[in-house]
Amino acid sequence: MTEKIWLKQYPKEIPKEIQYDERTLQSYLSEAGTESGGQIAIHFMGKELTYAEMMQSAKRLGAYLQKVGIEKGDRIAVMLPNTPQAAIAFYGVLYAGAIVVQTNPLYTERELEYQLQDSGAKAIITLKALYPRVANIRQRTELEHIITTGVEDYLPFPKNKLYPSIERKKTKVIVDFPKDSHISDFKQIVEREQGELIEHDFSFDDVAILQYTGGTTGPPKGVMLTHENLVANVSMCNAWLYKSNKGKEVVLGVIPLFHVYGMTTVLLLSVMQHYKMVLMPQFKSEEVLKTIEKQRPTFFPGAPTIYIGLLNDPKIEKYDLSSIEACISGSAPLPVEVKKKFEKLTGGRLVEGYGLTETSPVTHANFVWKEQDRVGSIGVPWPNTDACILGPHDSDAVGSEYVGEIAIKGPQVMKGYWNRPQDTEETFRDGWLLTGDLGYMDEDGYFYIVDRKKDMVIAGGFNIYPREIEEVFYEHEAVQEVVVIGIPDPYRGETVKAFIVLRPGYEVTEKELNAFARKHLAAFKVPHYYEFREDLPKTAIGKILRRVLIDEEKKKTKKK
Ligand code: AMP
Repeated sequence: MTEKIWLKQYPKEIPKEIQYDERTLQSYLSEAGTESGGQIAIHFMGKELTYAEMMQSAKRLGAYLQKVGIEKGDRIAVMLPNTPQAAIAFYGVLYAGAIVVQTNPLYTERELEYQLQDSGAKAIITLKALYPRVANIRQRTELEHIITTGVEDYLPFPKNKLYPSIERKKTKVIVDFPKDSHISDFKQIVEREQGELIEHDFSFDDVAILQYTGGTTGPPKGVMLTHENLVANVSMCNAWLYKSNKGKEVVLGVIPLFHVYGMTTVLLLSVMQHYKMVLMPQFKSEEVLKTIEKQRPTFFPGAPTIYIGLLNDPKIEKYDLSSIEACISGSAPLPVEVKKKFEKLTGGRLVEGYGLTETSPVTHANFVWKEQDRVGSIGVPWPNTDACILGPHDSDAVGSEYVGEIAIKGPQVMKGYWNRPQDTEETFRDGWLLTGDLGYMDEDGYFYIVDRKKDMVIAGGFNIYPREIEEVFYEHEAVQEVVVIGIPDPYRGETVKAFIVLRPGYEVTEKELNAFARKHLAAFKVPHYYEFREDLPKTAIGKILRRVLIDEEKKKTKKK
């Protein structure tokens, strides 16, 4: 086991160790609601909600849940897009003493059923438009209560404008409900519920959230994140943004709050620091550009596909994006070109960070306010976080020739997987969380991701890292998005295939791309196959689902 190497010049403004209070997540909303009650907590499509209103609504929801029998430790699914209701529901469940099961509103019935069964959720809070999906599977779950809300509840304009596709396709559902079934209205609860909230005793080690992993590989597992995991990670984030001002920053919430990254860097950070969140329920590049110009956010966490989507909007130069000061890009590699262009356009800093659901999620990042950014690196471990590279080499082996699996220790590391002790055990070694990512560390303690262990392609005995090939294609002006995978090959075991999405208005042939790749890569890494696509399959956060493409290719080979 290698030992951690801290950055040689860790800036003095950011301490290597920070202190954080031993308190619950919901206590931060109580604080914001009383100390900064008049401050805007959420801006949503032209409407605003103060911290006092958000706290009161969440407490009423919590009291209601307790009244209908929800007890400490019960699981409650929240299946909502980025809306004020999502934020209220999240804290309402915590006030009740229950555990939030973060649920993606795009789940199919099958995926939803799996997650509700696996978590044993007793209640779900969701959109009226999504009710048919819940109703159809309800009897195969432990759901006792369904609380629904309309997207229009917090909007100044009619519902059809926001979710036309969902609202119009309303299906008639005829379901045989058990007699004690309970369906209630979110808005009525948060406006009228008068009951007293019972204050449970909490331990810092209590599970607050079940966060199902992206599911890019294997069956989704519920990651148990405790109050401590999340309070610690948000406090680290806050230390990292060391020039930010309590109550003064405006956070742009485009990434979903039901994803661990949006939950921590938008919702939890804002509530802890009394920031204003500008929530957007879906990514539409022009809407985002308009919102940035009007609402003037200062902090904009995102994923590479979001920044790429904005940069590819032909109207981007027309908008004033100068309010943006800091962006952390996580969840997938940030192409260098994207970073440079976005920084030039906004005048702010876009730095790469890294993490995973199992670590609440952030473990590493480059410095936002310091010119100590190493392009192509995921940065250095956050305060209180240790990271190392596992491999056969010595503990002081640094440099790109010493690639191994990255392992993490820190207060943000999960308690384990819900009901899966075996999986939990296999994910830890000597107290270190195994990330499944291959990387190396340079002599100053900056880490670099080479690839995911599982994504590495072995062709003719050579190790090929798809990410390296993708980086090369991103430098080609015609390429908007690219993903490279290994496909079965009778001679080399595996060979490389590239899926390419072209930028609008650009044309390029396979031959030209191949010549470009040959110029920049050793011959054994150059793809043998190319496929042009309109779009690539993605997760809710915008991560490309390479597993879907790998499965498609496997099926094709079987058929041959
Ligand atoms: P998830 O738990 O779904 O958020 O996925 C976590 C995984 O995303 C990590 O194990 C990495 O493989 C990947 N990931 C996150 N951030 C980065 C990054 N900056 N560069 C490359 N991969 C990343």
